[in-house]
Amino acid sequence: MADLETFRSETRAWLDANCPAEMRQPVRDEEDVYWGGRRAKFKSAAQKSWFEACVAKGYTVPAWPKAYGGAGLDPAQAKVLREEMSRINARPPLSSFGIWMLGPALLKFGTEEQKVHFLGEIARGEIRWCQGYSEPGSGSDLVSMQTFGEDKGDHWVVNGQKIWTSYADEADWIFCLVRTDKANKYQGITFMLFDMETPGVTTKPILLISGNSPFCETFFDDVKVPKDQFVGEINRGWDVAKYLLGHEREMISGAGGGDRTSAIGSAMLRHTGELDPILRAELAMFDVDALAYGAMGEKFLDEIKVGKAHPAQPNMMKYAGTELNKRRHELFMSAGGSRALEWDSEETGGGKTPRGWLRTKANSIEGGTSEVMLNVISKRILELPGD
Ligand SMILES: Cc1cc2nc3c(=O)[nH]c(=O)nc-3n(C[C@H](O)[C@H](O)[C@H](O)COP(=O)(O)OP(=O)(O)OC[C@H]3O[C@@H](n4cnc5c(N)ncnc54)[C@H](O)[C@@H]3O)c2cc1C
Repeated sequence: MADLETFRSETRAWLDANCPAEMRQPVRDEEDVYWGGRRAKFKSAAQKSWFEACVAKGYTVPAWPKAYGGAGLDPAQAKVLREEMSRINARPPLSSFGIWMLGPALLKFGTEEQKVHFLGEIARGEIRWCQGYSEPGSGSDLVSMQTFGEDKGDHWVVNGQKIWTSYADEADWIFCLVRTDKANKYQGITFMLFDMETPGVTTKPILLISGNSPFCETFFDDVKVPKDQFVGEINRGWDVAKYLLGHEREMISGAGGGDRTSAIGSAMLRHTGELDPILRAELAMFDVDALAYGAMGEKFLDEIKVGKAHPAQPNMMKYAGTELNKRRHELFMSAGGSRALEWDSEETGGGKTPRGWLRTKANSIEGGTSEVMLNVISKRILELPGD
């Protein structure tokens, strides 16, 4: 305990010295988020210096081992760092599918060579990844995916199409599910890694109702993938894919803190003054549920620490966290009245409220839909029948 308090005061001093004031402001737009990668550019000197300080300290991936670019923090220390960063509203120095999704899968299934190479690149923000799972016709039923890799001895030739590939047009590499055995549904998928600049890879952005275009259709036409660019075992990529999905769901649910768990009632009253009594009651109910969700997250984290995590926890967090976040944004819209529908005005920051509200509609779809989460919870926790 005393050690942890020493760690807390050292962390506080380090943050004071290294986190510039500009990096303690809320994220206002996409440019405030640093994704790293070959083509990345810093928005400001403060963003660059905060990122570089964190890389040097291992704080882009604090809980990863030092050998792979992390700081080797144990779960209790990592929690202290999160608390201290959130106390000063520090922005994440680096946002990355490599950190949230591929990294944990490589830590579990990767070879030592892959860990040193790819985890190091991810920690240093040198590579930006995208996720090639969904296909037209294979979303919830992911295992029916058809993209095929034909074995050509020292390489595969991959043909097929992925869809909803977030930031595929900005990513350097893709982690991708490819069928390598057509006769075997679950044990016929290989988890491949390849460069998005490989000849035969093309992307086409998809426009959303929010006016943004954050994801793409991704096409593979005779893409040559060397035979050593896979994770886990050939034809056993489904194990890696499922493990990664657990981490993706945790990330989407905002487990372990973040503004999804915080109460909004008093903040909203400050901004909007007197509120309709029905809305007031809805706010109070939301705040109670948000606090309960926060407590559930803490409980799950403690259970993970002592090795007692239930495999369906990420699904429960994903379901509850994303439904809660949708309710939060519905309330912002209700409290804002007709003003909240403004899309373009300067006063509303370019329609921040409605655009944020529309974006949350995707929360309960991305990474597995709410209905599918409920199916998994009923099977794994309530032990109801089904595959
Ligand atoms: C913002 C966003 C980002 C995304 N990014 C990526 C990405 O980077 N890479 C990637 O590969 N994919 C990505 N996806 C795709 C996402 O994983 C899929 O949209 C999701 O898995 C659902 O699949 P689907 O869209 O094909 O819907 P479907 O599977 O066709 O589902 C349609 C409806 O049927 C319901 N349904 C389906 N099966 C069942 C069932 N068994 N029981 C009850 N109800 C069911 C669903 O709940 C849903 O309401 C992204 C999606 C979004 C919204």
